[in-house]
Amino acid sequence: MTSNRSRYDVVVVGGRVAGSATAMLLARLGHDVVVVDQASFPSDTISTHSIARSGVVQLQRWGLLDAVLDSGTPAIRQVTFHAHGESVSRTVKHKAGVGLVVSPRRYVLDTILAAAAEQAGADVRYGVTVTGVQRDRRGRVAGIHGHDRGGAGIDIGARYVIGADGLRSRVAHSVGAAINEARPAGGATQYAYYAGIRWTGIELFVAERSFAGVFPTHHGQACIWVCTPTAEAKAARRRTGSRTEAFGELLERSAPQLTERLRHARRTSPVQGMLRMPNQVRQAFGPGWALVGDAGYHRDAVTAHGISDAFRDAELLAVAVDRALGAGTEETAALALYQRQRDQALREIFEITRRLGAYPAVPAFIALQKKLSAAIDFEAAALASRPVPGDRLLATA
Ligand SMILES: Cc1cc2nc3c(=O)[nH]c(=O)nc-3n(C[C@H](O)[C@H](O)[C@H](O)COP(=O)(O)OP(=O)(O)OC[C@H]3O[C@@H](n4cnc5c(N)ncnc54)[C@H](O)[C@@H]3O)c2cc1C
Repeated sequence: MTSNRSRYDVVVVGGRVAGSATAMLLARLGHDVVVVDQASFPSDTISTHSIARSGVVQLQRWGLLDAVLDSGTPAIRQVTFHAHGESVSRTVKHKAGVGLVVSPRRYVLDTILAAAAEQAGADVRYGVTVTGVQRDRRGRVAGIHGHDRGGAGIDIGARYVIGADGLRSRVAHSVGAAINEARPAGGATQYAYYAGIRWTGIELFVAERSFAGVFPTHHGQACIWVCTPTAEAKAARRRTGSRTEAFGELLERSAPQLTERLRHARRTSPVQGMLRMPNQVRQAFGPGWALVGDAGYHRDAVTAHGISDAFRDAELLAVAVDRALGAGTEETAALALYQRQRDQALREIFEITRRLGAYPAVPAFIALQKKLSAAIDFEAAALASRPVPGDRLLATA
């Protein structure tokens, strides 16, 4: 905890990929920001953690890719696709300024981002649970209420409250943010960590109604995951009676070659994951508030794109709030532009995600994977061509 002040320009609720990135950029743009999170860092969250090229571009543009690589997560330069008993390996091409992808553990990545926010001048306060928002006499959101771990009340006033507090966002509920688009809930993703094998890159295994894979990460370990329709994950759980055995059964069906290799590995974590992942887009802003990350847009993890979505939208929002805080720009216009840009930017990959999450037959699933790859490259190129918020201020600091 760096401060117990009670007034800022912006209070960001939630300090992981969406919240810390937004706070870092706003602080770099010269604003007075605090991030509060009920968790303490370093800490993990339920998520695998492959970062797509577009997300890696953001880390590079923000000057954080070296810190991520220095944390010991491997630079991944090869992706191998397995389907119908055949395997095709591809080198990660140099595009949009990056020639690698990464899959850092969340307790490492989120801590690097929070430290970057702090280094940029934001206050970061852990162990603060937000319970609701403050409103002024006109009904405009004007801060947050919450408490620390000991139960002592905490009130922070701010011109803007940003909800980066994840899928079950308290900020979204407190402000009554509408769900503007809801599609049928998606599938299940389950994962565990394994050590004791040499991993050469990302591996993806496509089979009927399942998608499994390997994300190499810190300490020579890999995150081994399997995505399936939720009904199949539940049925496996009922048949086997245990989450671990159900995971083993689903993995065996999806990627028998991988299961065979894992016999020589050691599982180093319990099996974790999420079922029935919502596919939804929330209203992104209102008077005195905005949402970013999973709080505003949530999708099935089958496309492993949530971190990249959060990074993209953190920057869109930071630029919008910077304009809204500056003189001469109408707040509603600035934040409405954020919502339009977000909704446009997420559209193609959201559609691909929903279609992949319906688990079409293997040839259609593979065709969608190719579309996904092209969409990510397009997004990465668009991000790489933008000016970096706060760059000029950093250079003259
Ligand atoms: C099983 C699974 C696998 C996934 N795999 C990938 C992947 O491989 N690649 C990828 O890019 N994405 C993946 N995702 C998606 C990714 O995890 C999310 O999109 C990402 O975590 C969203 O980040 P966020 O910062 O918006 O929210 P979160 O990571 O959910 O962080 C929200 C923060 O808000 C804090 N908070 C919540 N409520 C309060 C409160 N009331 N007061 C104070 N603090 C609060 C929480 O403590 C938390 O730290 C996966 C998701 C799941 C579920």
